[in-house]
Amino acid sequence: MMRADSGSFLGRLTVIGVGLIGGSLARALRTAGQVEEIVGCGRDPDHLRRAVDLGVIDRYSTRPEEAVAGADLVVIAVPLRAMRPVLDTMRSALPAQAVITDVGSAKASVVADARASLGDALPRFVPGHPIAGTEKSGVEASFPDLYRNRRVVLTPLPETREDAVVLVRRLWRIAGARVTEMDVAHHDEVLAATSHLPHVLAYALVDTLSRWSDRDEIFQFAAGGFRDFTRIASSDPDMWRDICLANGEAVVAALERYMEDVRQLTEAIRQGDGVRLQRCFSNARDARRRFLAMLEG
Ligand code: NAP
Repeated sequence: MMRADSGSFLGRLTVIGVGLIGGSLARALRTAGQVEEIVGCGRDPDHLRRAVDLGVIDRYSTRPEEAVAGADLVVIAVPLRAMRPVLDTMRSALPAQAVITDVGSAKASVVADARASLGDALPRFVPGHPIAGTEKSGVEASFPDLYRNRRVVLTPLPETREDAVVLVRRLWRIAGARVTEMDVAHHDEVLAATSHLPHVLAYALVDTLSRWSDRDEIFQFAAGGFRDFTRIASSDPDMWRDICLANGEAVVAALERYMEDVRQLTEAIRQGDGVRLQRCFSNARDARRRFLAMLEG
């Protein structure tokens, strides 16, 4: 796909879903000067015109089958529930050699959609997930450094072509990311614990407090800890509903383990068991320190 004439890594990139994740990837590749043309696709022409004005994409279509024409690489960055309809619509128009990847936060559901939809293009599909994001949505929230030093997990299938994986790995490295590979089911279990569970907990905490009768007073006295803990409850509710439904089994398993530990902590507080509380809090603090040192190291 390297364009010898221009030195760009890619000729034409199509990004379906030019929001935070798709827009940030387009910006990163553009900043690196590694793509000749970026075509955007979405439902709302106003959003896409804004993406052109911001220099994120060169042109757009609201029809996936039109947007993928002549593409070397297609990145699907739409909400999980929109993956299947997008795949179905673009499938017959895909160029014969185009590589396809996605950014969905849960992988088994996207893989099932791709298997049902892509037919003989399946070996050119590389499922992916950038472990990066913010609580904001839309192209206005996108920025080129979102993926710098962040992890991207690829979950290739047994039939995925190696040259397609190489291309997608290279794409993310140009965006500044560290790319690793994982099995689909393992990805969904790990992400249920590290990302999906914390989002459910943050939403649940704010929802619970917002329904207490003295909520105004509670929120007035909320300090930095509350803000830190609940930042991710400002994330897009539609997106997180999709993720919880798509990865339901793993999310439920993580929630049940967590609730059992919370039940035991509740019991310790009820019984005035300071030793048990101290053990839990110290273990958590030490584990977090190790985790942060690992991230920085
Ligand atoms: P976003 O900012 O809301 O962007 C989604 C984009 O998809 C929007 O530009 C929207 O534009 C477009 N879209 C929605 N439905 C569509 C459809 N049926 N056909 C074509 N385009 C459609 O959301 P995001 O945060 O970038 O998330 C996109 C994907 O990335 C999701 O699958 C999510 O699981 C994954 N992800 C998110 C994060 C995160 O932290 N946000 C992190 C990693 C992965 P229109 O409204 O104009 O159609």
